[in-house]
Parts: sequence; structure tokens; C-alpha cells
Amino acid sequence: MVHESVRYANERHQFGKSISSFGAIKAKLAEQAIKTWVGESMIYRTLGMIEAGVGAVDSKDMDARLRAIEEYAAECSIIKVALSEYCDYVVDEMVQIYGGYGYSADYPAERAYRDSRINRIFEGTNEINRMLIIQMLMKRAMGGQLPLIPAAMKLYLRPR
Ligand SMILES: Cc1cc2nc3c(=O)[nH]c(=O)nc-3n(C[C@H](O)[C@H](O)[C@H](O)COP(=O)(O)OP(=O)(O)OC[C@H]3O[C@@H](n4cnc5c(N)ncnc54)[C@H](O)[C@@H]3O)c2cc1C
Repeated sequence: MVHESVRYANERHQFGKSISSFGAIKAKLAEQAIKTWVGESMIYRTLGMIEAGVGAVDSKDMDARLRAIEEYAAECSIIKVALSEYCDYVVDEMVQIYGGYGYSADYPAERAYRDSRINRIFEGTNEINRMLIIQMLMKRAMGGQLPLIPAAMKLYLRPR
């Protein structure tokens, strides 16, 4: 989507210039690139942690492998919510950069816009994933795996 947005913005001319030379379009392209990079980085980081966890247990012990993956269920929900919303943002700006052509099925922005929208609904709607994130974090905090309660107590007991 970023690639197509940049290509089209360079190609399309208005007022005697390519639209990519306009500050408003540059800002859109930059924000698309930021969200894509942040999203990819979140995935690489989490996959690295999952791989390390799975690699640390007996490769024949399927239960242990599944437990190692489940350890990062909250992170996976966070990624699902964040990236589906980033994707909608990026594709919405793609439609905007294409202008009227963004709305036309003859251009790639329209298909990307329709395809992106489902991501906030399937694989657990974002509303449900948001609830799961909190449930999983609270469970870990109550089980002492996440030092949330000591951190909260420290804040509460801090001299004012
Ligand atoms: C193209 C496509 C492909 C799909 N592929 C698969 C697949 O491969 N496998 C599969 O199992 N399913 C698949 N689904 C189904 C998909 O997972 C469901 O549509 C999705 O889980 C939402 O369920 P629902 O449609 O029944 O919506 P509902 O459960 O009726 O939800 C409607 C709205 O209410 C909200 N809501 C519901 N409960 C709560 C709550 N407790 N608190 C707050 N908000 C709530 C939802 O977030 C949503 O916004 C697919 C759907 C589509 C459209």
C-alpha cells in the first residue's frame, strides 16, 4: 500500500507538479511508512520472543511448545488490534492520495480498502480482543508473572 501510494503520488500531477511534492501528501506518505514500520517491528519482536520460548523447550513436547506460544497471547491480541487499525489508517490515506480514482474499482486503492476492513472483525473482533488483553494482563498480574501490583503499590505508597 505504501509502495503503491508513493508510486501514484509521484506519477499524478496537479498544478504543474507531482502531488508527492505537496506537504500534505508527504505527511500522509510519512505516516503510512511509520505505521507500517512500527507494525512490522511489533511482529518481528513478538515472533522473536515466541521463537526463543519454543526453542527453549523439548521439541517433541507439544504441550510445552503450546504453553510457550500461549505465554505471548496478550502480545498477539495487542498486535491484532493495533495492526488492523494501522492497516485501515494506511489504506484510508491511500484512497485519499488516489483522490477520485481511490473510489474506483479500476484502481488498487478501492480493493485494498474493502479487504482491509474485515481485519477489525475476524480473528476475534477488536472489541473482544481489547477485553482479552486486559483479562490476560490482570491474570498475569494476579499470578505474579507481571509486576503490575508491586508497581501500583509503589506509586500508591510514594511520599507526596
Ligand atoms: C470474510 C470473513 C471470513 C471469516 N472467516 C472465519 C473463519 O475462517 N473462521 C471462523 O471461525 N470465523 C470466521 N469468520 C467469522 C468472524 O470471526 C465473525 O464474524 C466475528 O467473530 C464476529 O462475530 P459476529 O459476526 O457473530 O458478530 P457479533 O458477535 O454479533 O458482534 C457484533 C458486534 O458486537 C460486538 N460485540 C459482541 N460481543 C461483545 C461484547 N461482549 N462486548 C463488546 N462488544 C461485543 C462485536 O465486537 C461486534 O462489533 C469470518 C467472517 C468474515 C466476514
